[in-house]
Amino acid sequence: MAEVDKTDEQWRAELNDEEFRVLRENGTEPAWSGELLNNKATGMYKCRGCGAELFPSDTKFDSGSGWPSFYKAAERSAVTLINDRSFGMIRTEVRCATCDSHLGHLFDDGWNTPTGNRYCINSVCLTFEESDEDSGNDSEGKAAGE
Ligand SMILES: [Zn+2]
Repeated sequence: MAEVDKTDEQWRAELNDEEFRVLRENGTEPAWSGELLNNKATGMYKCRGCGAELFPSDTKFDSGSGWPSFYKAAERSAVTLINDRSFGMIRTEVRCATCDSHLGHLFDDGWNTPTGNRYCINSVCLTFEESDEDSGNDSEGKAAGE
């Protein structure tokens, strides 16, 4: 069972209509509509429903599909994969493991990526938290690794 378990009423209070339709009713946003589609900043993509960390920005790639695409989840356990046979297709649905919200689908056509996977994720299912760190050099004060 998901760690975050809310009623539809609670979800409706927290999400706008479009977010509710996609996250809680397995909807899909129109291609090319997502505000995070062309985001190239460094940081972490999190679940709009619960804030769980889902995809690091360095796994995002330009798939040309019209939806934000990632080749790897932050943690394998961050997402749940479910067989989806709706619409007469066999697809793999991707859900947030923490709050069980629909995120998108997983395909194996992520050509030219290290994993060959393409997590095709609705932008409305994500929030983006930009990282403060400039890429590269560790800043002073960061504790030495153990
Ligand atoms: Zn979530």
